[in-house]
Amino acid sequence: MVRFVDVPGMRRWLGEIGLETAIAGIAATIEEDFRRWPEFDKTARVASHSEVGVIELMPISDGRTYGFKYVNGHPGNPGRGLQTVTAFGVLADVASGYPTLWSEMTILTALRTAATSAMAARALAPENATTMAMIGTGSQAEFQAIAFRTLLGINSLRVWDTDAEAMDVFLRNMLPLGFEIVRARSAAEAVAGAEIITTCTADKAYATILTDEMVGSGVHLNAIGGDCPGKTELDARILRRADIFVEFPPQTRIEGEIQQLSPEHPVTELWRVLRGDAAGRTSAEQITVFDSVGFALEDFSALRYLDASIDGTDFYTEVDLIADPADPKDLFALVADAATARTPV
Ligand code: NAD
Repeated sequence: MVRFVDVPGMRRWLGEIGLETAIAGIAATIEEDFRRWPEFDKTARVASHSEVGVIELMPISDGRTYGFKYVNGHPGNPGRGLQTVTAFGVLADVASGYPTLWSEMTILTALRTAATSAMAARALAPENATTMAMIGTGSQAEFQAIAFRTLLGINSLRVWDTDAEAMDVFLRNMLPLGFEIVRARSAAEAVAGAEIITTCTADKAYATILTDEMVGSGVHLNAIGGDCPGKTELDARILRRADIFVEFPPQTRIEGEIQQLSPEHPVTELWRVLRGDAAGRTSAEQITVFDSVGFALEDFSALRYLDASIDGTDFYTEVDLIADPADPKDLFALVADAATARTPV
């Protein structure tokens, strides 16, 4: 039997433990797994591109547990009443190859992306940062705001989205939670005075959400929307002035903001910073960029946290996903009746 967490199960689980607990727990598990980075068998994700989006498979294994996520990215989807990003994921037992957990991951991806962003910012953002600018207030945005408050105490937000309705929704969701929010009239106005800038837009294009002049010294950029070939958010001149931190370089070189730079441009792997093997922020004036594209390890960690947390609860059901006859040599026994059935179609 395979544990199955569907969307209602995910919502009930989160309703029980709360978003802050979930984000803090997922962030701690991701950090724990980043610190044991060399133990993982890592692969850049496998992407199938179309004119309107991408469908990706994201596998990873630590030798005991294998995980993968199916995820799409379709920036035009909200115009059709659909999500830009949807996902589901699986954990499996390496020893038998049998899947053990199958979960919805559209919500879990938003949680793990936010947890990863805030975890990276804790290592890279200016000390005592109080204000975050958010460019793009779509599906991921609320999760990012809650994660940055949970892990860094950021309560002051300056937001901008080209879609006024997306900002309406964000304010409606976030104001009751006690955030102080400035609704800016442009990206430039949003970033003024913020020590952390999150770019979280969706457009399958080399976009310039932030121009060079908008970004002064001493800020941390959490760039999450540039995550596909031909899909970036930052003026390359900002990147050249910054120290850049990445998840898995072979994937980020293809998908991240750094696809705009030469393949030799120096970057620092986040796991080395988290282990204390590489420097994070070294001065107050430095510009740091977390060039986030989303890596399979973060999904693995989120699923691992979910799996442990739902143990002994009714937030999952068990599904008979694996055909497993009593005699392992007799798979046919499960369909023997069908061999003589003759209903014409
Ligand atoms: P979404 O479509 O719900 O929201 C994107 C928002 O960006 C929309 O409200 C849109 O109006 C706004 N926008 C587009 N162009 C803009 C511009 N020039 N200036 C200001 N706002 C603009 O998408 P989402 O689910 O919130 O995802 C946001 C982005 O994050 C996507 O590109 C997605 O692929 C990416 N993403 C990255 C990770 C990661 O791990 N790095 C994880 C999940 C999603």
